[in-house]
Amino acid sequence: MRFEELDADKIQRLGSEEQWLAAQELVRQKQVHFRFRTPDRLEAAVQNNENWCTAAVSIIDGGLQSTCTCQHEGEGWCVCALAVLAAWLDKPESFLDRTALRDQLKQYSKSELIKIILELADKVLESRELLKEESPDLDTILESIDSIIGQVGPTGAAETGELEEKLRLAQEKADRLAQMGRLSEARATYFYLLDNVFGLEEDLGKPGLFSEELKQELYEEYCQLIHEDRHLDRTLVQQEIEQLESRAAFSQSQLNFADLKKNFIGEGE
Ligand SMILES: [Zn+2]
Repeated sequence: MRFEELDADKIQRLGSEEQWLAAQELVRQKQVHFRFRTPDRLEAAVQNNENWCTAAVSIIDGGLQSTCTCQHEGEGWCVCALAVLAAWLDKPESFLDRTALRDQLKQYSKSELIKIILELADKVLESRELLKEESPDLDTILESIDSIIGQVGPTGAAETGELEEKLRLAQEKADRLAQMGRLSEARATYFYLLDNVFGLEEDLGKPGLFSEELKQELYEEYCQLIHEDRHLDRTLVQQEIEQLESRAAFSQSQLNFADLKKNFIGEGE
């Protein structure tokens, strides 16, 4: 299903009539802010009385699921999640199409992006806070990966798309480390990502939990960083590779280190 196919009839069944009316009222009162969408997710910040919530509606296995930061208990969806759908029905074009924006930004040059970001920092106060982040630190990145993986339940019940998006944040930090010339720390991050991704698949017995695309990308970057690093700690890398190869989910995947080991060990002799 697609969000474009939703109508009021389908949405009303997700909560009580009273909640649906309250949700529509929040939209009328302009309490649904910062709306954005991807093909399978709608998200917004909803102000309900004194409380601000981040509410999202996702399409998972063809059905709708909601998540919200409010502590809603009881039947059906919370008012905030219903308000996101009410806002969508009311004005779909008010949701920022994040996927389209990302594709658009990918086409800009670095200097164009810098210009845009500086303009944002001039005009939007909140963006200054985001830009303040200090240079990434390896321990903090690895801890963040631990906490992301820790959010997956024992049955693997988590939205994998959301999980991958979070892991990609760690990946972006690793790329920044690499750009700063901190190649071994960048490689350590990629190793940790790969080890956790395959480790989790192994623990859960779900070899296809994460997308092939993510695994392929992590693997390629990891190999690339090994090739680029002139001060490579070969013993450490050999241990990393052995560790990954010992993962059942890795050996069942299409990835392998045969070429890398041939070149890598060959170079060492
Ligand atoms: Zn809520």
